Amino acid sequence: MTRFLGAHTIDNGGLHMAVLRAGNAGMTAMQCFTAIPKFYGDKSTIKPERVARFKAALAKTKITPANVLVHGAYVLSVATPEDDKWERASAGLTKELERSSALGVGSVCFHPGSAGTSERSASTKRIAKAIVQALETIDSGTRLLVENTAGAGKTMGKTAQEVGEILSHVPKSLRARTGYGLDTCHLFASGDDITKSKQALTAVLDDFEKETGEPPSFFHLNDSEGELGSNRDRHVLIGEGRIGREPFEWLMQDERSRGIPLILETPQQNYDIADDDDSPDPYDLKMMKLLL
Ligand SMILES: [Zn+2]
Ligand SMILES: [Zn+2]
Repeated sequence: MTRFLGAHTIDNGGLHMAVLRAGNAGMTAMQCFTAIPKFYGDKSTIKPERVARFKAALAKTKITPANVLVHGAYVLSVATPEDDKWERASAGLTKELERSSALGVGSVCFHPGSAGTSERSASTKRIAKAIVQALETIDSGTRLLVENTAGAGKTMGKTAQEVGEILSHVPKSLRARTGYGLDTCHLFASGDDITKSKQALTAVLDDFEKETGEPPSFFHLNDSEGELGSNRDRHVLIGEGRIGREPFEWLMQDERSRGIPLILETPQQNYDIADDDDSPDPYDLKMMKLLL
């Protein structure tokens, strides 16, 4: 099985432009938003024209729909103990799965958000409830994946045990349609030292596999500006942070990096790229060269 590498490309000019930029960079995987990530998007339906443009663009690349990952809005805090907030976040997550299913992509990832004043264990049940609601409302082949987080404040999804606990509350009949993915920056920032040795990195992945019963369904490849255990979610270019280049080489040697989307969420050079310019970002090209 080969490795599918890509980035969360810039979508100036529309979603299809993000796809073309990914394709022109030679990517075999990519990530995108389907709506503005700082809003719930719970009322935002995707227009058929947008879907058609997305699919037409994708057909021009080496990226299969299965290797497209959608990143859910950052405000979808389904971990929250506040009922009205949960309702809205949960509706947003369901709507995201609806849009992503219309696009026909492989999966959606999301941050579970903060447990707030509540107990973490109770929060894992609310997160699972939102996952179940989304999966029961939208029946499709698009999977809904929990992303591990950097662990700031009361944010959930900080450890292997916690990700496992969230997924354990999903009924067996729906379990195959959900799972999780790992962000290297978040692992490191939440205290998993993946830099010590190849064995240490392997042990972290083993731990997640043991607690959840399955390997990760994607990786986010980011170096970390913050130090080990800092809980800081600040991504930097690979080799320019506290993780360094070598752990990424170890990860590329691990079988678990094969057959799933490997997505760079590192800084890009040209955020103001013109809407009609489909050229790849120079930093993305640089990162891909480093990893392949
Ligand atoms: Zn994320
Ligand atoms: Zn990430």
